[in-house]
Amino acid sequence: MLLQIQNLNVHYQAIHALKGIHLEIKPGERVALIGANGAGKSTLLRAISGIIKPSSGQISYRSPTGDVLLLNEMPPEKIVASGVAQVPEGRQIFSNLSVKENLELGAYSRKGNIHFKQEFEQLFKLFPRLKERLSQNAGTLSGGEQQMLAIARALMAKPQLLLLDEPSLGISPALTQQIFATLRQINEQGVGILLVEQDAYLALENVHRAYVLETGEIKLQGNASDLLKNSEV
Ligand code: ATP
Repeated sequence: MLLQIQNLNVHYQAIHALKGIHLEIKPGERVALIGANGAGKSTLLRAISGIIKPSSGQISYRSPTGDVLLLNEMPPEKIVASGVAQVPEGRQIFSNLSVKENLELGAYSRKGNIHFKQEFEQLFKLFPRLKERLSQNAGTLSGGEQQMLAIARALMAKPQLLLLDEPSLGISPALTQQIFATLRQINEQGVGILLVEQDAYLALENVHRAYVLETGEIKLQGNASDLLKNSEV
């Protein structure tokens, strides 16, 4: 197992946002978290990336070295360094820095020499649009391009698990399809993917398995093809 979440509870003061969540991701899997507004999807991603601390439960993760780490006991920067990178909701790129500087910052958690030029060439195979915009201010990119940059920046951390919060938000259907096709390519290179998506149909068309969250609990889970046939979804 790449990631195993057991009996996870998260509270925001009096609000019980996640109630006894169990979730698993196998190596190389693409998994979606779907559910309505306020269901707890972003909260679950934030708990995995260490931005919020759960009140109880366990998040176990097998690092590239084979060690099993308890992410719920680690600070966010150690979690990134162990191979879990998040593309936050609303992208949160550094808009007054260039595309190049944003990409370089994506590698901040890595140690040793980084051959940026070679790595950028690899990234441009996935995101050709970023190539001619390398020196452009990130804030002047279109919404879709900013989403691409946010994903590319996360890849600079060399993750083996990529967490994405609503990559389709505010992006045209055509660009969304392109971004999902790129996510497939990234996944086929061996990166596990957990993505949050409000559009259940879009999510299920693009993942192997999914979990349906409702007011902090998992209501349904299964193969994408089975869930697509389920009228409750
Ligand atoms: P959306 O699709 O609208 O982003 P979501 O499924 O990602 O929704 P969360 O953002 O995880 O839902 O929120 C789950 C619950 O926790 C909601 O009831 C929300 O109001 C609450 N919540 C989220 N963040 C905080 C916070 N910082 N302080 C207090 N309550 C919060």
